[in-house]
Amino acid sequence: MPTRSATLRGHRIPLDLLIGGEWVTGDGRYAVTNPADGAVIAEPTSGGVAHAVRALDAAQSAQAEWADWAPRARADLMHRAHRLLLEREDAIVETMTLESGKPLAEARGEFALSAAFFLWFAEQVAHLHGSYAGGSGGGYRIVVGHRPVGPSYLVTPWNFPLLMSARKAGAALGAGCTVVMKTARDTPLTQALFAGVLHDAGFPAGVVNLIHTAESGEVSAAVMADPRLRKVSFTGSTAVGAQLLAQAAPGIVNSSMELGGDGPFVVLEDADIDLAVREAIACKFRNAGQACVAANRIILHRDIAEEFTGKFVAAAGRLTVGDGFRAGTDVGPVISERQRRRVTDLLRRFTEAGADVLLGGRPVDGPGYFFEPTVLRVGGERHDFCNEELFAPVAALYTVDSVPEALEFANDTPYGLSAYLFTRDISRAIAIGERIECGMVGINRGIMADPAAPFGGVKASGLGREAGQGGIYEFLEPHYLALTVDEEGA
Ligand code: NAD
Repeated sequence: MPTRSATLRGHRIPLDLLIGGEWVTGDGRYAVTNPADGAVIAEPTSGGVAHAVRALDAAQSAQAEWADWAPRARADLMHRAHRLLLEREDAIVETMTLESGKPLAEARGEFALSAAFFLWFAEQVAHLHGSYAGGSGGGYRIVVGHRPVGPSYLVTPWNFPLLMSARKAGAALGAGCTVVMKTARDTPLTQALFAGVLHDAGFPAGVVNLIHTAESGEVSAAVMADPRLRKVSFTGSTAVGAQLLAQAAPGIVNSSMELGGDGPFVVLEDADIDLAVREAIACKFRNAGQACVAANRIILHRDIAEEFTGKFVAAAGRLTVGDGFRAGTDVGPVISERQRRRVTDLLRRFTEAGADVLLGGRPVDGPGYFFEPTVLRVGGERHDFCNEELFAPVAALYTVDSVPEALEFANDTPYGLSAYLFTRDISRAIAIGERIECGMVGINRGIMADPAAPFGGVKASGLGREAGQGGIYEFLEPHYLALTVDEEGA
């Protein structure tokens, strides 16, 4: 039982760390706030370096036995955890809205997708297979199986707290790895409830460990330097991802990175404009624009730019901003005052460079960190900040004269996570889509995360893929046995 818990909207939330199957108190506490009003909602315990090292001790001690569980037994346990997750939907969804600000309907959507990802990995466990082949020169056989990489450090961001945790933990646990999950500072409570599901489902002590901390840098540096750590799976900014990769280098720690994006959203002259507008609104304003796969640069062919812009501004103007618990809210607050100041500053740079504000453009007065849905028309010279992640309910529209110009602009970015392309001509869509330098292209759709699809990016957007047929292999190493065969003996 947790030593400390909070009761929020009637749901009990553990505030402790989970280490070696026990709920443990950390060194101090820190405040988690509701971004819709700035009020403190809970004070989880904060783990220090010693706690993180203890969590790694526990993960290391449990690793060999967990790896030896029969795949069917591991799959059964994951299915039990999935059922328990579904039973706790209301607690998790409401807590997510409370600490992240996202509207309840979006939190429910994230919950459903997270459960689907976890189920996907549960289903894969008993179906993993190896191979058997002849040696290329004869005389022996090549038998290849897979082994879990080992104790894994899962570091997640605040914008999709359940989805990122469920996707990483599902793959790692399914592969037979033990885990230390480090929560995001702003959204530890959703992840605490998720860890509680895994704990209560009956994962053996030490297989699932959870660390909250107000000192991410220091705690992570210690975990990364520990030779028992064999894998880091990180979702967050490119800057922190690069830092973790540098920390992974001395120990050659296997690394998966899901980093920032600069999603080009290209609408060609033959597109279905109403569809493109609808998908652009979802792709841009979901989660108040705080998504790595958000449309960061909406690139319009000049022939349809005016029509698209008129309809897009009208649709964005109909979005209701407010508390995520209020019925009818489309756009919640951004995560913090710091984030809101960053957006205000970025907007200033756009307007000083000559961008026109077609809608919104200001923080909303009153409590909470709300920002008006904003649409910018960016003309003329392009600046470095056009490639910065807006990470806010701010849409930037650009106009191009041709497909080559659209492609050139789409690829003119250090990032390569997601892109979107709208055209009625499917063969043209394939030809152009294949030339966009990124991990994922949505053709005539603005939302595409799916357990059956490989999620991830290229360039500064990351390394590796989560989910899809191959996602679980991010936590497995091929293991090859060479068998001598006496060909004469038969
Ligand atoms: P962030 O990089 O600041 O934080 C991510 C995580 O890293 C958090 O848990 C944070 O506590 C931790 N962290 C911060 N400093 C650290 C350090 N020095 N060492 C170790 N850990 C540290 O990112 P964020 O602001 O939480 O999230 C927004 C970013 O995440 C955006 O860039 C967004 O594009 C990206 N993101 C990417 C994906 C994807 O799948 N590619 C998904 C969601 C978010």
